[in-house]
Amino acid sequence: MRIIAIANQKGGVGKTTTTINLGAALAEHDKKVLLIDLDPQGNTSTGLGISPSSRSATSYDLLLGDVVPEPQKVGVGDRGLWIIPANTDLASADIELHAHEKRSFLLHDALRGQMLQDDRFDYVLIDCPPSLNLLTVNAMVAAHAVLVPLQAEFFALEGLSQLMMTIREVRMKANPGLRIEGIVLTMADMRNRLSQQVEADVRETLGDLVFQNVIPRNVRISEAPSFARTILDYDPSSKGSQAYRALAVEVLERHYNAGRKGAGA
Ligand code: ADP
Ligand code: MG
Repeated sequence: MRIIAIANQKGGVGKTTTTINLGAALAEHDKKVLLIDLDPQGNTSTGLGISPSSRSATSYDLLLGDVVPEPQKVGVGDRGLWIIPANTDLASADIELHAHEKRSFLLHDALRGQMLQDDRFDYVLIDCPPSLNLLTVNAMVAAHAVLVPLQAEFFALEGLSQLMMTIREVRMKANPGLRIEGIVLTMADMRNRLSQQVEADVRETLGDLVFQNVIPRNVRISEAPSFARTILDYDPSSKGSQAYRALAVEVLERHYNAGRKGAGA
């Protein structure tokens, strides 16, 4: 079982899109995948058709509730996808967490307890809010690795050092084994010179941390959530589907290799 926090404090870089579609692509490999929506905006939940009225057991309960929420099966065409949705309760969680003695460890403890016993899931993907707040820290403390979507635009690298500093701090104080799963360039326009230049710069700066596969800007990807579908279900042969499938293969390979030689950041 592998827990991956999908984090970047910038909004609109493709965290939610990557959580949903990487999850669906891993499920295509017969992996059992649990998505945890840790963003109070609840876009992962909405994008998979979980209506607000059917969000009775949520990520808020996972952090601060008395009962462990039961993951919901996602009812789209994809196999092997479950979700713990978010509702608006989560908006106040950051403040409530500050008052808590184990404020950074609540998600970790919840997942290591009842929730993930007996290897129910192969992958747990946590969609983080656009902030380096306590929700994101909880995700990083609970996770084996952080996957960072980076939008292929001029300011792509801006803010990344702050994110890396948070990862270092989490390693020092709470989770020494935390790796960087990888950095994935999103919304890239490969015919555009600027996009190419950004990719070259990012690869020069970050080297092997950057996934080979790049997610292109693809309108089908942005349409899928309004039909409550993943891109793989909505348009299986689209460029977007191909890209998320290729990303899933890289993620699977990285684990295989990391398992063999302890590689990683
Ligand atoms: P975040 O979760 O980081 O805020 P989202 O995943 O919600 O970012 O993406 C922001 C917006 O960009 C959404 O409207 C989403 O549909 C769109 N989007 C994300 N990735 C792509 C892509 N590869 N091509 C086109 N649109 C995309
Ligand atoms: Mg989001």
